[in-house]
Amino acid sequence: GSRSYSFMLRTKNPCGKVPTQLYLTMDDLADQFGIGTLRVTTRQTFQLHGILKKNLKTVISSVIKSMGSTLGACGDLNRNVLAPAAPLVRKDYLFAQQTAENIASLLTPQSGFYYDVWVDGEKVLTAEEPPEVTKARNDNSHGTNFPDSPEPIYGAQFLPRKFKIAVTVPKDNSVDILTNDIGVVVVTDADGEPQGFNIYVGGGMGRTHRIETTFPRLAEPLGYVPKEEILYAVKAIVATQRDYGRRDDRRYSRMKYLISSWGIERFRRFVEEHWGGKFQPFHELPEWEFKSYLGWHEQGGGNLFCGLHVDNGRIGGKMKKTLREVIEKYNLGVRLTPNQNIILCDIGNSWKRSITTALAQAGLLHPRYVEPLNLTAMACPAMPLCPLAITEAERGIADILKRIRAVFEKVGLKYSESMVIRVTGCPNGCARPYMAELGLVGDGPNSYQIWLGGKPNQTSLARPFMNKVKIQDLEKVLEPLFYHWKRKRQSKEPFGDFTTRLGFEKLQELVDKWE
Ligand code: SF4
Repeated sequence: GSRSYSFMLRTKNPCGKVPTQLYLTMDDLADQFGIGTLRVTTRQTFQLHGILKKNLKTVISSVIKSMGSTLGACGDLNRNVLAPAAPLVRKDYLFAQQTAENIASLLTPQSGFYYDVWVDGEKVLTAEEPPEVTKARNDNSHGTNFPDSPEPIYGAQFLPRKFKIAVTVPKDNSVDILTNDIGVVVVTDADGEPQGFNIYVGGGMGRTHRIETTFPRLAEPLGYVPKEEILYAVKAIVATQRDYGRRDDRRYSRMKYLISSWGIERFRRFVEEHWGGKFQPFHELPEWEFKSYLGWHEQGGGNLFCGLHVDNGRIGGKMKKTLREVIEKYNLGVRLTPNQNIILCDIGNSWKRSITTALAQAGLLHPRYVEPLNLTAMACPAMPLCPLAITEAERGIADILKRIRAVFEKVGLKYSESMVIRVTGCPNGCARPYMAELGLVGDGPNSYQIWLGGKPNQTSLARPFMNKVKIQDLEKVLEPLFYHWKRKRQSKEPFGDFTTRLGFEKLQELVDKWE
């Protein structure tokens, strides 16, 4: 028939790497089949909305031919593997990115099933993978595989639920490492030579309102593995979740529930059995830091890179036009960050001035083009795009930030002050609101549950403070909190730490007494 459908397409780009040609293709597709904007997701991928179903085949074919892949973007299998987006020519960063690509490749579905769905049975080639990845996938020395299945790791049933992995280097927490099912951290020797990995397991954000047995959870240390063993260890973790993760109720099917019911010791024993190796103790690492990579930086190898903030990851209008021109003219590589920003890579020193001019003319490089609150803020797509949304997120966050700024001014907080703010339309938590210093989670029409207590470097969970706060009543809660933060904070104490130190009982008292 002539009926058309709206559709959502998500690419898969380990480490957020987007080759020039793929960027230009996505930019075209957004105009031809989409709603004229591109969206950078919180997992370093592109998302396109509003495609007509009759055009879908053309869309997907174009993307795959431009070296992006839609495989593993959805479904009960491994999602896009995160890694720091910075194109730094440094051994540890390059090794983290290579490892992310190898893990992504290891866990990509082998059968034509997803191709058939996406491209109508048309045969499309996958990227070549290193031989060690194929070897690790097919290794069945501990009986972990389904040797007769076209999916040696997943088998016919795939995983109980979606599965998320991130890789990073010490200090760099641009990937929200502890929110993943598996977090992998490169460990180097004194000369910066990668030796192995610390592995965390069991993180995850999703929960259900009013069901206390569902909860967000931080990943915890599993152990250290030498670098040669990483693919085997990751595969053993995935196989453990595949075999023992709950399949009877999707609310409890993420690996975090398996680990929390077994405890880490028992989980480690089962993984070691699947792997045939033993985890060593965690190597001690420095404190985590949030990295944004915004502005100009040395890339190494004589080049520069430039990070640009994208509000809510939505690239449209003048920004879209200018980015396209610059990327096309200089043939720049692009990286997407887990904070929904974009990095232009491989910039020769001699191009810096003209690129700066082009970006500045589009308003993209003015030092004040980003409101400080917006640097770390995130919102999920919610209405009208997500069927699960209970209330607004992306469409509402600009106004929410303006109102928070106004409260800052009223209580005397400086313009440069900031905090991590995240808003989602439902408790599923796609924009990781449970890691925020101030998280708003939709819990009814125009109302939010308020979460407090995360840290600027994303290393602790927030806790629910108040329920069903109507959007129009936001100031009644925030003004007393900010007023007292301004006056009672210890030197430079971040908002999240302040709310944790005071305790929610005290905070509630301050809110109740406020006139
Ligand atoms: Fe949809 Fe909920 Fe995810 Fe927002 S958090 S995108 S409303 S599922």
